[in-house]
Amino acid sequence: MSLLDGKSTLIIGASQGIGAAAARHFAAEGARLVIGARNVEAIEALRDELRGQGHEIDAIRVDVTERPTVDAAVQRARDLYGRLDAAFNNAGANALSPFHEYDEKTYDHLLDVNLKGVFLAMQSEIRAMLADGGGAIVNTSSVGGLVGNYGLAPYIAAKHGVIGLTKAAAFEYGQQNIRVNVIAPGATATEMFLGGMAHAPAELAAKFNAFSPMNRIGRPLEIATAAAWLLSDQATYVTGATLPVDGGAVGA
Ligand code: NAP
Repeated sequence: MSLLDGKSTLIIGASQGIGAAAARHFAAEGARLVIGARNVEAIEALRDELRGQGHEIDAIRVDVTERPTVDAAVQRARDLYGRLDAAFNNAGANALSPFHEYDEKTYDHLLDVNLKGVFLAMQSEIRAMLADGGGAIVNTSSVGGLVGNYGLAPYIAAKHGVIGLTKAAAFEYGQQNIRVNVIAPGATATEMFLGGMAHAPAELAAKFNAFSPMNRIGRPLEIATAAAWLLSDQATYVTGATLPVDGGAVGA
């Protein structure tokens, strides 16, 4: 049996990077998927790719700052597959500025996407899981949810908050068969990270490699596999946990 065999699974933030890698990996592990993001063209292309390989998958526009779109994605999974077993709340956005120069609009946007978006998604998913007898949720924080760094203040605040939301929900729904965990990826080779690095000096890339005792950044699939395990029935006694997936950057 595969890790996510038959599980009705929602991935939010699946149009590229870690979320797209998760869609491919979860499908290969037997999940029945609904994938969401704002870039409809990208998620529909991914849907078609995976359908072409025989997987059960649908795609729907989701903007985590718009509650009705989140509710619609959860409902789509229940309509298609009868229930929602698993959800990966992976949408995220980033910016770079000295702390004292961040404008308020950027702060609000980063908190909206990275923190409130996770809150809205969890509310909708938990309501469905309560109605359907349980499930598992994984949120995406960051090593920036565990330690500070330069230029990322609102992102760091939001990602710390994602760990807080995870703990609160794990505590509150532990007896309703709902597990809630959070992964904290380190620097990972996605559009978000590489896009930022494209404007950065070469020494900075070397610095990021050096953060990890493994002296390299992560691959999107290496993050997705951790999320899959936490969502699976191999992790039935794991809830409220923060799992760094960072090549030892924070823990070693
Ligand atoms: P990415 O390539 O930029 O992908 C981000 C994903 O989030 C995209 O699918 C994007 O889709 C989606 N998204 C952004 N805003 C959204 C919104 N308002 N509503 C719905 N979806 C939205 O970044 P990534 O590196 O794969 O990041 C995935 C997650 O990992 C994020 O939470 C990020 O903070 C976290 N993370 C990344 C790294 C890293 O080094 N890459 C490290 C630590 C943590 P659309 O634009 O199509 O909406």
